[in-house]
Amino acid sequence: MTMPLNVNDPRAVIEADRAHVWHHLTQHAPFTATDPRIIVEGKGLKLWDITGKEHLDAVSGGVWTVNVGYGRARIADAVRDQLVRMNFFGGSLGSVPAAIFAERLIGKMPGLSRVYYASSGSEANEKAFKIVRQIAHKRHGGRKHKILFRDRDYHGTTIACLSAGGQQERNAQYGPFAPGFVQVPHCMEYRKHELGLGHLSGEAFGVACADMIEEVILREGPDTIGAICLEPMTAGGGIIPAPEGYWPRLSEICRKHDILIHIDEVVCGMGRTGEWFGYQHYGIAPDIVTMAKGVASGYAAISCCVTTEAVFEMFRDDSDDPLNYFRDISTFGGCTAGPAAAIENMAILEEEDLLGNTRAMSGRLLGNLRELATRHAAVGDVRGLGLFCGAELVSDRETRDPLPEKQVVAIVGDCMEQGVIVGATNRSVPGRNNTLCFSPALIATADDIDRITDAVDGALTRVLG
Ligand code: PMP
Repeated sequence: MTMPLNVNDPRAVIEADRAHVWHHLTQHAPFTATDPRIIVEGKGLKLWDITGKEHLDAVSGGVWTVNVGYGRARIADAVRDQLVRMNFFGGSLGSVPAAIFAERLIGKMPGLSRVYYASSGSEANEKAFKIVRQIAHKRHGGRKHKILFRDRDYHGTTIACLSAGGQQERNAQYGPFAPGFVQVPHCMEYRKHELGLGHLSGEAFGVACADMIEEVILREGPDTIGAICLEPMTAGGGIIPAPEGYWPRLSEICRKHDILIHIDEVVCGMGRTGEWFGYQHYGIAPDIVTMAKGVASGYAAISCCVTTEAVFEMFRDDSDDPLNYFRDISTFGGCTAGPAAAIENMAILEEEDLLGNTRAMSGRLLGNLRELATRHAAVGDVRGLGLFCGAELVSDRETRDPLPEKQVVAIVGDCMEQGVIVGATNRSVPGRNNTLCFSPALIATADDIDRITDAVDGALTRVLG
């Protein structure tokens, strides 16, 4: 199927882009010889670029965002209606969609009760860090201010988020970083030998990984640590679900040392893993949860920092101390487009049972990838939750050395030529895991999944022989 292009002069658009747009995460040098690729239309999982080429998007808008798929007129209509009625008020006044979405969201998150609106994942995480810091000042004389983060986790692009970032390649060249962020080890079973835990497996491995975090807590001093910030399943750092036993032990450790648990659901939230939130797979009771991407599937910019009533209560104060409330604002947290889109987005997830579809299609995706691993030696490990799955590529199954970046890029490029957009994590970091990632919209069908893995099959054969 070819979509009509609603662009009068494609060449003029390409040249305007080439001359003036600075693309995210992009080395521009190749654009002197090749054209930047410009997307014009989308429907379901399909995209059409300005040359008319059709693509099957296996990564939900590149960065795991468009959970309900492209072309949802229903969301656009709701946003339009809301914007013409009342588009924005920043600061302390509320709005109708903000109240309605907050109530519905809290309905999906037992144990949590307050929603603070912002406009990006990084921003929501900054809010969480500031809440932790302010609690340290209010309750602990500023002492319990440190925030733990894990090797391989990513929490955003600002300097504070990078200070809490465990993906080396994203941090290189942007230091110095903010003080008070302390890295702890990860829990990646496929690379457990790097943690010195090669002899353990299953629950014993999970518990040992959590215990390694407690060692850091004891070394730093529990009275200096306010919170730990973690992805429920590491996304960009290599698609790393938690091993059995990990979360129960980690929760126990955090409670023992009075450390708040901040779960970053920016990627995993809103059904991506087959539950409303990734942490719900593990029975954790977080104190703070942040979310962004799938909240409105990219139809509007919205993020949320959600807390328990106990956290919120620490900021409620009858005294006339003017410093005692949360002295924070997000200008665009006052834009009504975000919650208006989020209400419809959530309704679509429910009405179409997209969490159920995610669970069903996850089995097919993981099964297909495991089948590829039986025929392609480069597929060293297959893992994931829901419709966020990865295939880690190695040059040697014994040593588990990562496949060189050039070959990973060639595989992704070959899929693109075939009209399937797949992603790859960490591809520019020598020695780290190079993992192909698959995170199609939650409406994906069995045919879509097969088409994606068939493209990878062909690419692996062509690139690696
Ligand atoms: N947290 C995680 C886990 C992410 O993957 C990202 C973005 N990829 C962010 C936070 C930052 O979100 P944003 O780009 O919206 O600031």
